[in-house]
Parts: sequence; structure tokens; C-alpha cells
Amino acid sequence: MSLITVFFQLFLIGLGAIYLIRALFPIRTLVLDLPTGNLRTRWKVLSILIGFFIIGYIVFAYNLWSNRDHANNLVIVVSAMLLFGGVFAYLVGDLALQTMNDIKNIAILKHESVTDGLLGIKNRRYFDQRIQEEVTLAKRYKLPLSIILLDIDHFKNVNDTYGHKIGDEVLISLAQLIVRVARDTDIVARYGGEEIVIITPNSGKKEAENLAERLRGVIEKTTVAKIDSTQEVIQVTASFGVCSLSPVITDKDALIEEADQALYLAKKYGRNRVACSNW
Ligand code: GH3
Ligand code: MG
Ligand code: MG
Repeated sequence: MSLITVFFQLFLIGLGAIYLIRALFPIRTLVLDLPTGNLRTRWKVLSILIGFFIIGYIVFAYNLWSNRDHANNLVIVVSAMLLFGGVFAYLVGDLALQTMNDIKNIAILKHESVTDGLLGIKNRRYFDQRIQEEVTLAKRYKLPLSIILLDIDHFKNVNDTYGHKIGDEVLISLAQLIVRVARDTDIVARYGGEEIVIITPNSGKKEAENLAERLRGVIEKTTVAKIDSTQEVIQVTASFGVCSLSPVITDKDALIEEADQALYLAKKYGRNRVACSNW
């Protein structure tokens, strides 16, 4: 076999080995990004296998060079396959990394699409969708379902006195406080500006009222922001409207409407209180 053909074969094998080495980079990023577990172990095993392949390529190339006078035409096919093998391993690693990044981005977008950017709780869009699902489930399985609508009392005063930034801080602390006090199964969402809604699945009016009362008490006792320069502490109160599914309140629109009416009454009767719908 001519020397040119042997060089060409060595070139193919060398190129294949370079692709194998390149495959190790995306795989390394994958291994570092993945949490410890079965998947991560498998990618590690794959990278060790690629290491063995690289050694195999070198041994094969060395043998090809040593036996260059006896090489036959089949060797060119093998060399081409080694090149394709290297490219294949590289593409697998690269595509896996790209797929993982895409999945991560989709998860971030999905989270952002249902989360309120300021408060970090669920947003109105999520609430609108979830309340419909919860009403359907509650009616199908004949389970109780309630919602609590809360609105901060005289919040305009907080903004006017301390500025919008402190107002935001108050809202954020309050949202975190509500999430801490509510059950894990409750759904806490921003309903509007400084109005927060809580869906309490599997809870009747009494249970929801108790939760609202507990929240009211915790909120009035908690410092929700502090002015650094004067060490002044800011405390707020909130009013609550509670409504549950009943023979009269049978859909999500009625549930929200009645909770809003109850909230209106809580404000009317002096604020910092819980009012329940009569229906
Ligand atoms: P009330 O007791 O009747 O509820 O009095 P209020 O002053 O709280 O009145 P209302 O609920 O109508 O006022 C809402 C205020 O909340 C007005 C608006 O400027 C403020 N607000 C709404 N969203 C935000 C926000 O994201 N950040 C801040 N800082 N303020 C907000
Ligand atoms: Mg208010
Ligand atoms: Mg309001």
C-alpha cells in the first residue's frame, strides 16, 4: 500500500481521535451540571469509555504504521469508521448538552410565566387557571373549597410616607409571611396591586376563616420593613374576605365575587378584620 494511502488513513484516525477528545468537553460540562445520581454516573462511565476509545485509536494507528507494508484495502474502511465513530461521540455529547440547556431554559420560562416578578409568589394568570381546576375538582369529588382575599389597609399611606421602594419591601415581606403561615397545599397568589388571594383546597368556611384570622394576627404583630436611617419599624394591617363553595356559590366567578364583597365589608367595618360571605 502506498505511503500516501497510509498517511490518509492515519489522518482519518487522527481526526476521529480529535473528535473523541472534543466530545469530552460537553460531557464534562454535563457531568458538572447534573446532580449526583444515576444519570451523572452514566455520563461519567461514557466519558471513561471515550478515554478507552482514544487509547484504542492510538494503538490502531501505531499498528497501522508498523505494518504499513502489509496493510490491505479493508483498513481504509476501518479508518473511515473510526472517524465517523469520533464524530458520532462528539455529536452525542454536544446534543445532550444543548438539550439539557434547552430543558433548563424551558423550566425557567415556565416558572417565570406563573410567578409574580416582584413578590415571588404565584401570579394572577396562575390563579385564574388554578381556581378553575380546583373548583372542578372540588365539585367532582364533593370536597370543600374556600378562597381568602386580602388587601393591605391604607397602603397608599405607606407609599406616600416612605416611598414606593419601601412599599415594595413591605409587599415582599408580607407575601413571604403569608406563604410561611399558609399550608403547603394552599395556593398563594398576587391578585392585584396589594391584594393577595389564597386558595385553600379541602377547607370549609370555618377552616378558611381560622387561617385568615391567624394571618391577620401575625401580620399586625410583624415588622414588615425597617427604615435604616431612623431605625423606624413599619407595621401594617390587612383586611380579609373569605368565601367557600356552597349550594349557592357554585362557580369560580361567584366565589371571587363573594370574597371581594366580604373584603369590602371588612374594610367598611373598620379594617384589620376578617369577614365571611353569608352564602
Ligand atoms: P384600603 O385600606 O382602602 O385598602 O386603602 P389603600 O390605601 O390600601 O387603598 P388601595 O387598596 O386602593 O390602594 C392600593 C395602593 O397600593 C395603591 C398603589 O399605589 C399601591 N400599590 C399597588 N401595587 C403596588 C406595588 O407593586 N408596589 C407598591 N409600592 N405599591 C403598590
Ligand atoms: Mg389596600
Ligand atoms: Mg387594594
